[in-house]
Amino acid sequence: MSSSTNATQSQYLNDFLQNPLFANLPSNFFTHLHPTPLPSPYLVAVSEKMAAEHPGLVNKFHDNDTVEIFTGNKVLSTANPLASVYSGHQFGVWAGQLGDGRAILLGDTINKHQQRLEVQLKGAGATPYSRSGDGRAVLRSSIREFLCSEAMHALRIPTSRALCITGSDKYVFREQPESTAVVTRLAPSFIRFGSFEHWYYNRRHEDLKVLADFVIEFYFPHCREQQNPYQALLAEVTHRTAELMAHWQSVGFMHGVMNTDNMSILGLTIDYGPFGFMEAFDESHICNHTDQQGRYSYKMQPSIGNWNMHALGQAMLPLIGSVEDTQAALSGYSSNFAAKWASLLRSKFGFSVAHDSDKQLEEDFFSLMQENHADFTLSFRQLSHLKNDDSSKDDALLNLFINRESVKVWLQRYRARLAIESSNEVARQELMLANNPKYVLRNYLAQNAIEKAQNKDFSEVAKLLSILENPFDEQIEHEKYAKLPPDWAKDLEVSCSS
Ligand code: AMP
Ligand code: MG
Repeated sequence: MSSSTNATQSQYLNDFLQNPLFANLPSNFFTHLHPTPLPSPYLVAVSEKMAAEHPGLVNKFHDNDTVEIFTGNKVLSTANPLASVYSGHQFGVWAGQLGDGRAILLGDTINKHQQRLEVQLKGAGATPYSRSGDGRAVLRSSIREFLCSEAMHALRIPTSRALCITGSDKYVFREQPESTAVVTRLAPSFIRFGSFEHWYYNRRHEDLKVLADFVIEFYFPHCREQQNPYQALLAEVTHRTAELMAHWQSVGFMHGVMNTDNMSILGLTIDYGPFGFMEAFDESHICNHTDQQGRYSYKMQPSIGNWNMHALGQAMLPLIGSVEDTQAALSGYSSNFAAKWASLLRSKFGFSVAHDSDKQLEEDFFSLMQENHADFTLSFRQLSHLKNDDSSKDDALLNLFINRESVKVWLQRYRARLAIESSNEVARQELMLANNPKYVLRNYLAQNAIEKAQNKDFSEVAKLLSILENPFDEQIEHEKYAKLPPDWAKDLEVSCSS
């Protein structure tokens, strides 16, 4: 394809991109196209940590060329942009063909750890898969995706990453007119469960095999040695997905739109939309106000992860060969989830070894948070600061609960449990503080940063990013970012519109 390059374009940017591996797939997997330019783009935010992974990019983001390239206005000669096709189940219903309706894969990059990553521009204009959409993303949702990707990475949760956001004063209409933006996001692959479902439901089993072989070759090469590589692939994705769900539950993260087209074949958190972090604990909480049935509520996520795995299993059945072998690959889900969840909770509660009574004790703490609408993040953080033997300093934790007496009873049991393993206070606190974040991307924090950015003040986005990059650190100077949400935040609603 022809690429429009700029003669003044710096070599460092050319070095950044290379032909995407994905382009080696047959041509019916994607459409080559260029992003649609946006007028007068400007830099909204950059993750210097991500830029540092690509030495050529450091300090290059105030260069106009860089901004134009990451908006899609100029296409590097080394890029080979494309949009891919996929399908999916949305809210449990087969939705047919979807595809990259506004994300365009520019090419692959190799970071300084020699890891190959796909570079996508999200919001870079219409594609053949846009259906009735305009191919754009608004500044609001772009800031949310950018901050949450980097926040999740800092929480050690598998996720796509975000490099930068560029904005433009071109407006698009959502519930109201909003300015547009482009997020540059990176992941080893953005292949989804829905990429497999696409070929299965179109009865293109040859293409299904090509896709599975591609995924095995580049991302799960050890499956090739197994007796049934496709079954091994499904078992591997089952494992990763179950663990991802345990990770999400452990920090109160709710994705909001767990459709199969938003499920990564690599077990990454992808396609950030109306996500939320649990504040006043309610296991039935729904973060996406479009989701009236609560299909994707907090408590449903682990079983929806399993439902989605079965949708993938169905799609892979022709490759695996038998229902029994497919079910065998899926059967690990519950135990994979339970094992990861137990180990994450062990760290969150500061136990160095497992004990029979732990499950009940932990569940009772969740029940207390539920009954008292206690803040999820702060409850675990204050529990981390608890003294092993001195209950006179329990107030910071007790103050988060309306019924303090019931928490005091629980704390007696908790301290008795710590005594069983002769818990060392310093080691326990250290373990808990490294596993119970102080700072998460609360909706109101994102909202404050968004409103400022909509008025061209991008400083709050940068500040939030720097805080969320170190979520386990005390950062005393940023104490107010760890506080309970203000009253106005209770009315904040996040929908699919983005
Ligand atoms: P999502 O649930 O946001 O991941 O999107 C579901 C599908 O709708 C995907 O195929 C997206 O590419 C597509 N889509 C969402 N928003 C737009 C938009 N503004 N323009 C074009 N396609 C879109
Ligand atoms: Mg999506």
